[in-house]
Amino acid sequence: MVGSAEVEVENGVVDAKGKVEELPQEIDPIDPIGLIDQAAVTEDVERGNGEKKRRSSRKIVLGKNVHTSCLAVTEPETDDEVTGDRDAYMASVLARYKKTLTERTKHHLGYPYNLDFDYGALGQLQHFSINNLGDPFIESNYGVHSRQFEVGVLDWFARLWELEKDEYWGYITNCGTEGNLHGILVGREVFPDGILYASQESHYSVFKAARMYRMECVKVNTHVYGEIDCEDFRAKLLQHKDKPAIINVNIGTTVKGAVDDLDLVIKTLEETGFHDRFYIHCDGALFGLMMPFVKQAPKVTFKKPIGSVSVSGHKFVGCPMPCGVQITRLKHVNALSSNVEYLASRDATIMGSRNGHAPIFLWYTLNRKGYRGFRKEVQKCLRNAHYLKDKLQDAGIGAMLNELSSTVVFERPQDEEFVRRWQLACQGNIAHVVVMPSVTIEKLDTFLGALVQNRLTWSENGKGQTPCIAAEIGTKNCLCGQH
Ligand SMILES: *Cc1c(COP(=O)(O)O)cnc(C)c1O
Repeated sequence: MVGSAEVEVENGVVDAKGKVEELPQEIDPIDPIGLIDQAAVTEDVERGNGEKKRRSSRKIVLGKNVHTSCLAVTEPETDDEVTGDRDAYMASVLARYKKTLTERTKHHLGYPYNLDFDYGALGQLQHFSINNLGDPFIESNYGVHSRQFEVGVLDWFARLWELEKDEYWGYITNCGTEGNLHGILVGREVFPDGILYASQESHYSVFKAARMYRMECVKVNTHVYGEIDCEDFRAKLLQHKDKPAIINVNIGTTVKGAVDDLDLVIKTLEETGFHDRFYIHCDGALFGLMMPFVKQAPKVTFKKPIGSVSVSGHKFVGCPMPCGVQITRLKHVNALSSNVEYLASRDATIMGSRNGHAPIFLWYTLNRKGYRGFRKEVQKCLRNAHYLKDKLQDAGIGAMLNELSSTVVFERPQDEEFVRRWQLACQGNIAHVVVMPSVTIEKLDTFLGALVQNRLTWSENGKGQTPCIAAEIGTKNCLCGQH
């Protein structure tokens, strides 16, 4: 991953004045070729019966269309090998790209990615095509794999979530989404006629799973801070008592960082008579690895009647490539897998070929940091998140922070250029910053300064007043004119 690009930087990148050029500048950073109808982007949704329905009339600002500034692949000239022109050109593109990455990394705040890591020691492995296709526990005939690392990592997570070595099954996925797709599939295989329940603040991958598997899906309301409303859950369960329940429980929602009350979900299921007719998948993509280290946080553990837990590896853990971990009960997986002669392994994963580098990156970080290291980082994130929330409120900006979370929610900046610069994730009237270990106080101070400055220009430009976001973050956190 690392290493070779750096050498090239020295050779071809720096121009005559010793300056490194930047990659082609974006034209209109929001809408370079006028694709977006800014007034109202509505989605036409084709329903199963062929009827088209307008789903939403809220404006959704899409990212810029990359097609106008992509790096074309061009045919090598016949003499390129002799002159070395092509090598020099490619080296310069990579060097400029690296500069862009450095700058973009510096201004990243909105997504829950820990960008603070050093995997230099693993650079030597990029020469190998490491692929763990098939089941992590059953070697396939392809010998260039990293199962020894993968299973070591899985053991670590099984221990964290309290499932015995001989009772769990799991694998390293391509991302948190794949973990959700797998967890919900396991649930569906255990209860083929089960109904999927998920709070409306669940990640979109959960609803994607319902569509892919053609499952009946019931959306459950949430409280104002984003956690599942178990009264609504109870009412909806009672309407479908005849079918088993498959539930997605959020260990940290994407937008507000809300943690669903697992114990209350289980209690609700039992009180409504679902005793052994339910399967719980815990979506811990963001917070699944942080919560175990928060004092007094409710516990995610297989000692409770849950079926699976998944987490993203590139979020809090900080892997340079998307990956994730999915852990479930061994007995469930036997129901869903089949042996494949071509692999000499078992097919129980969503994907076929699987990234064999990712387990080594995870193994490397878990070994370096250990439980103690993670605990320290979680504490730092929570402290810094409180700092940010307090400073926002001091500046008169409505902000909210869930108790167990490092996701700070606040009013959406009205300048899309600013949003893009800081890579803030937005939904409706709110934006958020997810405080990861790479988000330092210095970075937050720079951001706060820039936000306060930028905010002054909104009213000058005749843009609206501070919007009321009480519906999104609660009356007590909203600092608009009325609250
Ligand atoms: C990020 C996230 C996901 C999806 O994870 P990816 O690794 O991006 O696929 C799922 N659920 C929640 C709650 C998330 O925050």
